[in-house]
Amino acid sequence: MIKASLRSHLTLWFAGLSLLTLLSVGVYVGHIATEQMKQASGNALLSTARSTAALLAVQLRERQLEVSLLSKAPIMRKGDLDAPDILTLMELRTQSRAEYAWMGVADANGQVRQAVNGLLVNQSVQQRPWFQAGMRGEYTGDPHEAVLLAKLLPGSPSGEPLRFIDFAAPIRNAQGETIGVLGAHAHWRWVTQIVDSAVMQKDAIPQIEALIVDFDGKVLYPELLAGEQMPPDNLRSASGWSTGNGYVTASIAVPSPSNAKMTWYIMVRQPLDVALEPARTLLYKLLVLGLLAAVVFVLAAYFLASSLSRPIERLAKSAKQVQNHQPGAVFPQDHPVLEIAQLGRSLTGMTQSLLSKERELQEANASLEATVAQRTADLTQANADLLKLATHDALTGVFNRRRFDEKLAENSLLFQRTGRTFALLLIDADYFKRVNDTYGHAIGDDVLCQLAALIENTTRATDFVARYGGEEFAVLLPEVEEPDSPEVVAEKIRAAVEAAVFPTVGHVTVSIGVGVAEPSDRDSLALLKRADMRLYEAKGSGRNRVA
Ligand code: GH3
Ligand code: MG
Ligand code: MG
Repeated sequence: MIKASLRSHLTLWFAGLSLLTLLSVGVYVGHIATEQMKQASGNALLSTARSTAALLAVQLRERQLEVSLLSKAPIMRKGDLDAPDILTLMELRTQSRAEYAWMGVADANGQVRQAVNGLLVNQSVQQRPWFQAGMRGEYTGDPHEAVLLAKLLPGSPSGEPLRFIDFAAPIRNAQGETIGVLGAHAHWRWVTQIVDSAVMQKDAIPQIEALIVDFDGKVLYPELLAGEQMPPDNLRSASGWSTGNGYVTASIAVPSPSNAKMTWYIMVRQPLDVALEPARTLLYKLLVLGLLAAVVFVLAAYFLASSLSRPIERLAKSAKQVQNHQPGAVFPQDHPVLEIAQLGRSLTGMTQSLLSKERELQEANASLEATVAQRTADLTQANADLLKLATHDALTGVFNRRRFDEKLAENSLLFQRTGRTFALLLIDADYFKRVNDTYGHAIGDDVLCQLAALIENTTRATDFVARYGGEEFAVLLPEVEEPDSPEVVAEKIRAAVEAAVFPTVGHVTVSIGVGVAEPSDRDSLALLKRADMRLYEAKGSGRNRVA
């Protein structure tokens, strides 16, 4: 999926929808306009065709009536087709009406007896359709080229062949017998001029064209299309007009004044693209307007999208700042769009609570670190205390029995390996039970502490002082050379204790047994025993002495 900004999404959607709407409206309006134009053109053509056909029908009927009335004139009924009055009558008619090219009477055998301008007189017209039909009744015929007559008449100015339509009516005598036929040839040009002038009115439809088509759909007029077959759809459509072959065509039948079989159609047609010209113009205008509107819509869509997306972009930017712990994140809170304003307020609230939580977390972290440091220090101290406790006597602070045993073992090993001699003093307070009994256990403890301190002070830093148990102390002397022989050190201690004044108690003495390591000792226990034996001797010989 393509990731694009809200702005481009909105613009695309707005513009796309408005273009789609414009396009649909354009197509719809174009379609409607085209249909309407077709209809309008068809209807206009139809009404022109109708009035033209009506006019033509009237004209034809009048000519037919004229011929018919003439055939029934009293002079005709007399039965003498050679009567000069007949010629006069016919001349009066043809002179007053230019459309007549010929008028004459033929007898029942088809021989022309009299004719205007003497044309075709005495010739036989027996084979002519108008004559044959005229013997039976009134007749109006299709246009035709009259070869015989054409030779006798001046040619048409345009050079096209002279064509005529025939009118005929039977001549009957007083007894009602048909004695001949009155025939008239009217110029086809007369018909076509009626049609053309009717079609080409003042407010003529542009590029309108009039056709005359016979009953079978063959074009009679104009000359250029003569003989062409028109599709029957064009002739007899239900609405009176139809489209096809690039034309809008309206057609209407012109009934023959005499015989129903002879029917012409007046076809009036207009090129389809001419008829649809206004619709096309409308479409072009719509297109231009649509394009303009589309540009306006796209611009409007862009600005609308911008105004909608700007606060959201700001929200997103600020949210990113918050995410990256950058300062200065501000969320818009007074936007006219409710939801955006609400979002701004919510994000502000969330950010504030987030920041305060973060601060609290930092503080908690800092205090936790301080606590951990304190605990670590306490633990270190406790470890040190524990270590001291493990190796020192809790009451007096000198080394304890455990440490003493280790030290003694170390020295014994060292002595065995290097031969470096060392000595052991065992010091026991004299009559200490009495002290306890007399002054109490607590005072006794004080005395023990002071005793330990005295021993420490009297010995060297390299000497090892430990509480051996109860009111007994042990001192390991790594150097046994003169002048500080073990006896001398022991004596110093004894004298120091004797000289010291103990609070409450006064004076206290000690007895000291001295033992020196010997190569024959199998282990440290031997030395210990020796020193203990000496201590026992010192006690036995009266106490407060060194043995
Ligand atoms: P001697 O001269 O034969 O050594 O007589 P003594 O009374 O010192 O010896 P004894 O073994 O009969 O008594 C030792 C006394 O030391 C008994 C005990 O109450 C006392 N004692 C042992 N350890 C402590 C201690 O940690 N504090 C106190 N206050 N007294 C202790
Ligand atoms: Mg003792
Ligand atoms: Mg004692």
